[in-house]
Amino acid sequence: AASRAYEHDKSLSTHAFVEGEHPIVRIEHLNKSFDDNLVLKDVNLTVWPGEVVVVLGPSGSGKSTMLRCINLLETPTAGHILLNDVEVNDKKGKELCGLRRHLGMVFQSFNLFPHLTAKENVMIGQCKVLGKSKEEAEAEAIKQLEAVGLGDRVDYTPAQLSGGQQQRVAIARAVAMHPDVLLFDEPTSALDPELVRGVLDVMRDLAENGGMTMIVVTHEMGFARDVADRVVFMEGGVVVEEGLPGDVFDHPKNERTAAFLGNIR
Ligand code: ADP
Ligand code: MG
Repeated sequence: AASRAYEHDKSLSTHAFVEGEHPIVRIEHLNKSFDDNLVLKDVNLTVWPGEVVVVLGPSGSGKSTMLRCINLLETPTAGHILLNDVEVNDKKGKELCGLRRHLGMVFQSFNLFPHLTAKENVMIGQCKVLGKSKEEAEAEAIKQLEAVGLGDRVDYTPAQLSGGQQQRVAIARAVAMHPDVLLFDEPTSALDPELVRGVLDVMRDLAENGGMTMIVVTHEMGFARDVADRVVFMEGGVVVEEGLPGDVFDHPKNERTAAFLGNIR
């Protein structure tokens, strides 16, 4: 797969390509059905190191299912997913766990352990999955919690934190695992409007200063326009349009993209 030509993807991105560079995620002809319901139809997507790809689209278009296939939470019905040039479809058990380490995911519902403090939530994966010592994991947890503006909340439990703060803990937890790519599934959709900004600022910082490779499903159009290297519009399980944010927002080629953006603006 590594020898294939990627010129088409490159023309769609503002990403500065490095000679010999390999994609972090490559999706080829992905199909996914639940029973007889085909929810992903020949989806193709390539994500390069350091790229931020924002996925837009109406509810039910298959955005979460695509992320869950990348994250190995769902098995593709057909097609291929490659992570760092490694085909993941045929992997099972231990090998699958090894691959999962390279992926981080942030969900709409923060999914923190309620009985653990912020710091312990950020430590647990480092200890259990990466085998780090408590001391190492604690130092990393404090560093990452400071990075998301929660240095003074490390010993709070989720119930003592706002939704926005909880989501920032979830981001710190994902970053502490040093994944090759971070997947976000509507990370601000469950938040009160006044808390959205703080979470988006953390994500922007990760993209711009952290150099993190990110795939972000969101309805936050300002974030998509400002931070995305590339925007992908999905509808009905199909990637309808893909391109630079300025092109997709200001000159959508597809009428369904235009209708969606017109309605949401
Ligand atoms: P989006 O995230 O864009 O809103 P989803 O990926 O959640 O879309 O859903 C796409 C389609 O797949 C929907 O019709 C949904 O009902 C269906 N779907 C998603 N997950 C499952 C599942 N586990 N079992 C059956 N159908 C599912
Ligand atoms: Mg979804």
